[in-house]
Amino acid sequence: MAKPSSVVCVAVRRSVAALALAALSLVAAPAHAWSNHALCTWPALAALPEFTALPPAPAESLASFLKAEASGLQKLLDDEEAWAQRHVPNYPARPAALAFRADPSLSADELQRRFIAALRINPASKLPLFLQLRPGQGGAGRAALTEADVTPLKTKESSKFDAFVALREGEPVPVIDIVASATDEPDYGLDIGIWSDNGTPHGAAYGFGKQPFGNPKVEFSSQAPMHIGFFHESAIVYKAAPFLGRTFPEYRVHLWRSLAAYALKTGHPYWGWRFAGWALHYLQDLTQPYHARVLPGISTARMLGINTLDIVGVKGPKERAITFVSNRHFALENYQLRWLRAAHLSGRDDDLAFRALRDTALDAGAPYRDDSPRQAIAKASHEASDATDAAVVAALPPKYTSDPDYTFGVTETGLDLRAELAKASPAAVAPMEQALLPLLRQFGLHTRSFVRGLLAAR
Ligand SMILES: [Zn+2]
Repeated sequence: MAKPSSVVCVAVRRSVAALALAALSLVAAPAHAWSNHALCTWPALAALPEFTALPPAPAESLASFLKAEASGLQKLLDDEEAWAQRHVPNYPARPAALAFRADPSLSADELQRRFIAALRINPASKLPLFLQLRPGQGGAGRAALTEADVTPLKTKESSKFDAFVALREGEPVPVIDIVASATDEPDYGLDIGIWSDNGTPHGAAYGFGKQPFGNPKVEFSSQAPMHIGFFHESAIVYKAAPFLGRTFPEYRVHLWRSLAAYALKTGHPYWGWRFAGWALHYLQDLTQPYHARVLPGISTARMLGINTLDIVGVKGPKERAITFVSNRHFALENYQLRWLRAAHLSGRDDDLAFRALRDTALDAGAPYRDDSPRQAIAKASHEASDATDAAVVAALPPKYTSDPDYTFGVTETGLDLRAELAKASPAAVAPMEQALLPLLRQFGLHTRSFVRGLLAAR
């Protein structure tokens, strides 16, 4: 039997590998950053006059777009693959068999099937012509769509209040509504089941390899590595857990941005702005500190210490850390969703959330570049993560942030954190709003800077 001291030594060496377990448990939870991106995108882009002045764009089905542009898209997707191989760290190359080839003899269905395979998104994605309505907004006589018309996800989100309507081909659509609706769309299953161990035919074909973290059997967790950017952990963390270096929002953002720019240049503004919305989704995810740092509020040294204890059989600290970070992440989202929904319903343009999202004070200093997702957005979120975590803890009753026996969304369902806080006193919401305001400013800033760059590139 090894002496206790040598057990600890072995444990220290092995603690690095055990980091994997910490992260694995941590990101097994649903991988939303913001629960409804559209609610923030509308006010963020309302502050960009050159964008709001754009004329409405005629709705165009994906089949029409592909029929018109197949040969241009073949070159664009080849260029895109070359870009990703050069610029995205640890990028899993697209298998050659999935390259998009514009063959005029193909049926519209086959062309679309091949396009989706070249993009390596979930082939069950619905991709209908649709809009999400703002809270309280009427559908203007358009046919209502159910959630099942828009997403193949089996895991329904009862906390969402989406209202979807169908668009008719050719119908003129305000560009801000196209973009806002599309910013929520990547959470409707686009990146689900894409890894080789997800048990799906497309996961087996796409060449992404095994799901880097999260439980591959849980439907929603498979999208996390595309929607998270763990770019700024300490070197020892990547050494310990190399899989944390396999997060790929940069690949998605660049792909959707290139498609958006192409569609805008070639006279397909509907798809131009819809792809732009998809790109924005991933950028907006990175403005959420819990999507840019493995364990906000916990230093690398403590992280390693917790894992060492875990290995020698002291499980509590690790379990507690994961529960706390996960609960705080969900609490932040829950509050943000309820707040933004209430702000839209109130019709009060001066709501603090709207003002933060529209705040252009820093816009001039943040032009969008290809390295912005990593070097500007995720970096700022990583740097803000300790302060955000501390502010959430200070703003909420300890049950939601610091109770190891409480699982957010499970222990209680249908929770409206904003209503809970306001019940005590209207002023009780202020600290939580102060915690969120800097994040909403970042969300607005980077949303506008991306769109401004795209407008300039047309
Ligand atoms: Zn996302």
